[in-house]
Formats: sequence, structure tokens, C-alpha cells
Amino acid sequence: VSTLPRCVELLREYIAIPSVNPMHRDDVPAAVAGERRYAEHVAAQLRALGLDAAVIGSGERASVVAEARPVGAGGPPLLVASHLDTVPVDGMEIDPFDPQVADGRVLGRGACDTKSGLAALVAALERLLPTGRLRRPLVVVGEADEESGSRGVRDVLDHLGERRPAWVLATEPTELRLVTHHKGIAHARLVARGTAAHASRPESGRNALYAIARAALALERLGERLSARVDPMLGPATLSVGMLSAGHAPNIVPDEAWLIADRRLLPGETLASAQREIEAAAAGADPSVRLDWCIEGKPCLATPAEEPGVRECASVLEALGRDPHPAAAGFATDAGVFATYGVPGVVLGPGSIEQAHTAREWVAIEQVEAMEAFFVRLLEREPGS
Ligand SMILES: [Zn+2]
Repeated sequence: VSTLPRCVELLREYIAIPSVNPMHRDDVPAAVAGERRYAEHVAAQLRALGLDAAVIGSGERASVVAEARPVGAGGPPLLVASHLDTVPVDGMEIDPFDPQVADGRVLGRGACDTKSGLAALVAALERLLPTGRLRRPLVVVGEADEESGSRGVRDVLDHLGERRPAWVLATEPTELRLVTHHKGIAHARLVARGTAAHASRPESGRNALYAIARAALALERLGERLSARVDPMLGPATLSVGMLSAGHAPNIVPDEAWLIADRRLLPGETLASAQREIEAAAAGADPSVRLDWCIEGKPCLATPAEEPGVRECASVLEALGRDPHPAAAGFATDAGVFATYGVPGVVLGPGSIEQAHTAREWVAIEQVEAMEAFFVRLLEREPGS
């Protein structure tokens, strides 16, 4: 006889449906890649609860959008977004898709990041909907591709069109802390072009490795200058060169070299401004270095404490005896992507980022149950109350 709470049963169901984000790799087996199976499963569950659910997106990279508008509840909806994708499962020390329950924990890929967030929400809706206790318009979203390109958010907002949400709650492992701030992420690739020559006659070539090395050191100095740019919630802007490559053989002067830098953005910084700073530093270091690309991983999140979503979440957390103070996270989320489309948001969910993406990913059952209780309280309130 199962004595597991409903939210844990749902979480085990969700973990058993692989939804690995291939993250631009071509060696992730088709049997586990993509979000469509999981999206279809959740859509069927939400339809059974009376929601108007659609599976959207192309190919295997599907998202689910389900809308509920209780009789008499007007105004723009609250949108709860819980990304469907997980990171790949290479090197895991547990069976990623056969969820085990032990010592008050559920283990499996996505247990913490972030299938427990959706399990808590669906368990809460199973309590609220049959008894008519949902008091606000709600959009439940399971979006594809949070871990890589955020295509799911764009698909979802296209699908909703004029039905713009009032605010978004993105479930991510924050241990139920109310996260209103995180940095944005940008990656930039620099390329140096030189001229190959025999290594015995280096003066007859132009060494691209030396050029990219000068650019790398210029970026180190740029990073030091950026550390003086500090946000009170988020700390300093940062820059780190994470990859660098050059050369074909020791006896050839390299004709090409590249590096990739990681830049963490503060509110007020843009992809364009970060790109200009990197380009200027590189050009000053060596004229043969060019910017190949600069792309945004995720935008930053900086939601003011006065926003209704922040106030409502704080009030529910307080009622549950939990810390209601706005906090910053060290990771970036789809709430930042929603914010760039004008939808303010918060990040709040069960589990700790310490266990996300790990070889033995787990979530504490207590956290999932607490998140279900949070959703029950939030969703049975009138908006703004
Ligand atoms: Zn996540």
C-alpha cells in the first residue's frame, strides 16, 4: 500500500518520462531527448482537471500551456512556468529515470530541477479545482528548452497572444526562497586570424595564438574593471574566459585561434553594451582579433519589491512561517526571459540548486509538500488580496 503523498507520486511519474534537453549535442538518444512525451502527459492530466490545455512547439521540443479561468474571476492571469527539460544524464550514479524514494528524498534526473515544482502545482490543482477553490485566472506552463535557448518562453507568449499574464512565477530550486533578482548571462567568442608558417621560421608567419592570448589578458583586465560595477542585490558584474584553443601541431605557427568568454550582466547592462566592451578590449589588445558572436544565455531579473507578484508571494510565505524577504539567486532563469517581454516575475520552488544537475540529483519530500502548500494558499486567494 502506497503511503506516498500525491505530490511525490506525481514527481515519480514525471521523472520516469525522460525530457532531456540535447543542448546542441547529437549523441543524446532519441528515446530520452526532447520534452514532447512529458508535455503530452501533463496536458492530459490538466485536461482531466478541466483546464484548456495545448501542446505547442515544433518536433520533440514541445511546451504545454493550460488555462483556467474560474467563474467570476477577471483580469490578467497568473502564469506559473515550470520548465519541462532536464540537463543530460551522462555520469549519473543513479538510474536517472527510475525514481527511488529513500530517507525523505526522491532521487532522479529532474527531481530537483524542476519536475518537483510542476508536481507540487498539479497536486495543488487536484485539491483546489474539484472543490471550486481556484480563485484566480491561471496559466500553467511547462516550457521547453530552459537549459539552453529558452525557445519555450517565446512559443508560450506567441500562443497566448493578447492574453498577457499579470506576472510569472518560475519554479526553480530556491528552497522556497523568494528570488526576485539574478544576473544575466552572455557568451562571446573571439577569433584571431594569422598566417601559418614553419615553426623553424616563425618570423615569416603571424601567430594567431599570441594574438588570442593578448586578447585573453585584456579580458582579464576588463573583468577586474567590471568588478567595481556592483549591484546592491547581485554583487559585481563579472567576466571569465572559459575556453581557448589554437594550433594544429607544435611545428606550425597557428593561423587561427579562438576563445569564449562568459559575462554575467547586471540590471542596466545590455548584450550590446557588454559586446562593445569586449570588442574594444580585444581590438586594443591585438588588431587581428575579431568578435565572432556574442549571444545572450539568459537576461537578468530585477523585479522591484513593490510588484504585486512579489508582495503576494511574500504574504503567502509569511503565512506559512517561511522567509518572505526578496533574495538573489546565483543562477539565471526563464523569469528573466519573461521580464524582457514585459512580464514581471519571481522565482520560487522546492529543492536546492546544490542538487541540481548532479550525479545523484534529489529533492527533499518536505520541500515538495511545502511547495504544494504554497501553491494552495496562493491560488485560493483573490488576486491582489
Ligand atoms: Zn531549472
